[in-house]
Amino acid sequence: MKLNIIVLAKQVPDTRNVGEQAMNADGTINRAALPAIFNPEDLNALEQALQLKEANPGSKITVLTMGPHRAADILREALYRGADEGVLLTDRAFAGADTLATSYALAAAIKKIGDCSIVLCGRQAIDGDTAQVGPQVAQQLGLPQVTYVRRIVSINENSIIVERSIENGVESVEAPLPLLLTVDGAADACRPANAYRLLRFHRAAIPTECASEQFKYKEQVLSDEALQLKEWSLADVNGDAERCGLSGSPTKVRKVENVVFRAKESKRYTAADEDIKSLIGELLSNHTIG
Ligand SMILES: Cc1cc2nc3c(=O)[nH]c(=O)nc-3n(C[C@H](O)[C@H](O)[C@H](O)COP(=O)(O)OP(=O)(O)OC[C@H]3O[C@@H](n4cnc5c(N)ncnc54)[C@H](O)[C@@H]3O)c2cc1C
Repeated sequence: MKLNIIVLAKQVPDTRNVGEQAMNADGTINRAALPAIFNPEDLNALEQALQLKEANPGSKITVLTMGPHRAADILREALYRGADEGVLLTDRAFAGADTLATSYALAAAIKKIGDCSIVLCGRQAIDGDTAQVGPQVAQQLGLPQVTYVRRIVSINENSIIVERSIENGVESVEAPLPLLLTVDGAADACRPANAYRLLRFHRAAIPTECASEQFKYKEQVLSDEALQLKEWSLADVNGDAERCGLSGSPTKVRKVENVVFRAKESKRYTAADEDIKSLIGELLSNHTIG
């Protein structure tokens, strides 16, 4: 069985290494001060796609990202790890997108890729943290969805069985194909870059990179289709500008605030019985428990 698998991947600022320069004075993210990385759970999603491909030879993995030109870096990273093709969705019209506008644009690109068996994405991006994009893409495409997937158990022509994380346990779910899965961090970690693929695909580029005077591998890219990353604009995916970027975003950010915890907002307890008793008493009395 040959599967056409699409992995949604986002390039995100590494919010796990936040330094003093991470925020601008106006409260927005200073992206230049944070390294840009492959969203961690999107790597878990990519690994699920690679395992599916190994179990179903002849399957194809396309990695799709929406972002600025530098997001082509994560497409190359996906090729090093075993993906077949990368698509960058990029256009000024997409700037300022909230999750609704992001999922609209991604769904339009998925329709253009066409004939998809499974869309895999991370549960959540570490910068936006909403976990809304996956479910919204499924909704926009009219696909069934299973969220919080930690393992794909089996798949056949018509359906898939997966394990998903639930509070205090794991649930097995069977669902029809085609569908969308959001994968969480409990799933297998992604395999590292393969040395041979790294040597081969470090030259892969989007047309904008290829057109730059500093780019050294133009000839190789133009003569080798496998090195040609796709770069699609709003017009390429037949999108409606009114539903993209700021104009397609009903979410309005009124204010961004730094929250600094003050000493009076934290308490220290030791492991002594009386401290634990006092903590439990306090949690019971303010109804945090009980
Ligand atoms: C008014 C407003 C303006 C904003 N303006 C900007 C802005 O100018 N620049 C900016 O960077 N952010 C902006 N954001 C944040 C932006 O909306 C979110 O980062 C984005 O919509 C994705 O949501 P999320 O990060 O919560 O993703 P989640 O819903 O947490 O992501 C879930 C999964 O969806 C997939 N996914 C999410 N985003 C993408 C993507 N871009 N490409 C491929 N797959 C993806 C990934 O698989 C990811 O793991 C803005 C938000 C608002 C509300």
